[in-house]
Amino acid sequence: MTIGTNGNYAKSYANHQLWRLHVTNNEQIAKILAFSRIAHLHDINFWSKHFRIHEPIDIRVPPQAIDDFADFLTSDGVKIEYVVHMNDIGAIIERQRILQNLTQSSSNTNDFAYDKYHTIEDIHAWVDQMVATYPEMVTPFTVGKSYENRDMKGFKISSKKMATKRDGTKVTAKKAVWWDGGIHAREWISPATVIYTAYTLLSKYGQDPTITQLVDQFDYYILPVFNVDGYAYTWTKDRLWRKTRSKTSVANCYGADPNRNWDYDWCKSGSSHDPCDDTFCGEKAFSEIETAQVAKFIADQRGTIVNYINFHSYSQLWMSPWSYTTTSPAQFKLQDDGSIQAINALTAVHGTQYQHGSVAQIISPTSGSTIDWTYGIANVTFSYGVELRDTGEYGFLLPENQIIPSGEETMAGLEALLMYIDKHVYA
Ligand SMILES: [Zn+2]
Repeated sequence: MTIGTNGNYAKSYANHQLWRLHVTNNEQIAKILAFSRIAHLHDINFWSKHFRIHEPIDIRVPPQAIDDFADFLTSDGVKIEYVVHMNDIGAIIERQRILQNLTQSSSNTNDFAYDKYHTIEDIHAWVDQMVATYPEMVTPFTVGKSYENRDMKGFKISSKKMATKRDGTKVTAKKAVWWDGGIHAREWISPATVIYTAYTLLSKYGQDPTITQLVDQFDYYILPVFNVDGYAYTWTKDRLWRKTRSKTSVANCYGADPNRNWDYDWCKSGSSHDPCDDTFCGEKAFSEIETAQVAKFIADQRGTIVNYINFHSYSQLWMSPWSYTTTSPAQFKLQDDGSIQAINALTAVHGTQYQHGSVAQIISPTSGSTIDWTYGIANVTFSYGVELRDTGEYGFLLPENQIIPSGEETMAGLEALLMYIDKHVYA
């Protein structure tokens, strides 16, 4: 199914605005942080989760809340400056929907267009296509069924050659990499970029010497869309949906934040016990079948996975643990040096600037995050959360003409990172 075949989305964002707040002191941060916990009561939604001085905070404001929110920002003697960054989010969504339909390529999945966003059905057909096209290297897997009974479908890439240590000896226990996209439903550039990078590994194997080497050194688990139900929902009902789609204890409030649902320092800072909040941590750790099943899949690999990347958008950040505390883990420098390798190579392609550091230091402390569990429990040393393009010009509504550039630069970053990891794990 393509976007628009059912007419408009059910949820309209007509005349909703995107405001960009500029905070310059801690009083303002405290004010906006406190408000963020009740914002959903006014249908106000935080697009960026930065709560730091001099970092812009992007907030969607519905038409009925515009006057009151403007008053609030100047109230209590703590004035917060803002600009209206998008005048009508609904109009942008509608324009993109029309453009996507106009440029829709053939429905033949053999012509999968890497410069387009795709439905979950098309992405799963693409997985089948990779299995059929590269049978020697690609094995499909499913992590399990989602809450709404969709397959959490991915594939493993393996050249079936032994990895080589730096001294030239062969390694029997080959290390593996896990990359996933679309844990947050509305971040469409994330699955698109994971798809692009996985396809690059396959299509350039045997041709590009670096790619060939990296594919021989590691096995790759690719899950293009983690939050399959939420992603499907963004194509049919609500373009800006973030969470899973499970029922909660509150009528009309659905889903938990799958990046706050992991069993590591679960539901303390930067997440909410309120099922109506966008950062709802779930009724308990691993309440969401999707996170529970990915955790089990990772744990079942028994330590072979050395690199986990959870791809998000937006903000252009390459982040390592911890999320839950600003205190750095003992291996922080080892991890952060990997981020630096990645973003230097990434920036060299199109000039796109990224920041690096721990999640808590760059954004703000958040509990129960994916990479805290993969690092803290599953011992995946090189665990990263990557926020892809852009820095807010389009935000979640990144145009399709940025998919290929995002894929190209991210691939360069991943190659540099893997070369770096290779040196450490096969020393
Ligand atoms: Zn995200």
